[in-house]
Amino acid sequence: MKIQLLPSTFDENGRASVRQHLLSIVVDNKVAIDAGSLAFACSDRQREQIRDVILTHTHLDHIAGLPLFIDDLFATLTAPIRIHATREMIDILERDIFNWSIYPRFSELSNDNGSVVEYHEFARGSAFTVAHLSIRSVAVNHEVAANGYLVSDGKGSVAISGDTAETDDFWKLCNETDDLRAVLAECAFPDELSELASVSHHLTPKGLANELKKFDKVDCPVYVINMKPMYREKIVEQLNAARLPGVRTLEIGKVYEW
Ligand SMILES: [Zn+2]
Repeated sequence: MKIQLLPSTFDENGRASVRQHLLSIVVDNKVAIDAGSLAFACSDRQREQIRDVILTHTHLDHIAGLPLFIDDLFATLTAPIRIHATREMIDILERDIFNWSIYPRFSELSNDNGSVVEYHEFARGSAFTVAHLSIRSVAVNHEVAANGYLVSDGKGSVAISGDTAETDDFWKLCNETDDLRAVLAECAFPDELSELASVSHHLTPKGLANELKKFDKVDCPVYVINMKPMYREKIVEQLNAARLPGVRTLEIGKVYEW
């Protein structure tokens, strides 16, 4: 399984930077998990192939690129873009984003080939299939109802926490997964901002260290994602100082094969 965290910002030379404002993870160039920078940073091949978008939750940094991704493809789609989300997320998207004021309600529009958007609703905690992948959703602990995912291509699985504070079910699912290849875990704030992390339901390096006590697969690597760009250096420094076994940061833009 190929996994790539898409860039969301660019340096003065136009190259992808390590600052992650937005989250979009592309699996096998075909399925997107969240769409933060999807319209802005995907390759032409990804733009051609991605027709399934699975959302962890509806915060802006996870959906910002979704309206523009659909807009770009509108006239050329031969099948609708499938948005996989819970009922609550779908209602928020329709009410607050695709409401004609912020952006068109694509779910009511068609091109010459038919609908351009289709919602695929799932219940938190359920399992479903998306393209060639088996997906298991797990409720995590965030300000809004949010999901983590276990993604499997039949040969191996990767767990993605999404945005979360301390949570048990996600780690339980990781522990129960025999073919787990990697965990992508969030760590948004440095330790000195633990209060802010707590009210916004995110983790700090200390919080992540506590979470990892629940994870019993010592040989499985844990890649840190979702570091707030302003604090990235500080978070990396604190993670390094904590010497958490198997923990490293996920490189933005790099294609990992698991
Ligand atoms: Zn969030």
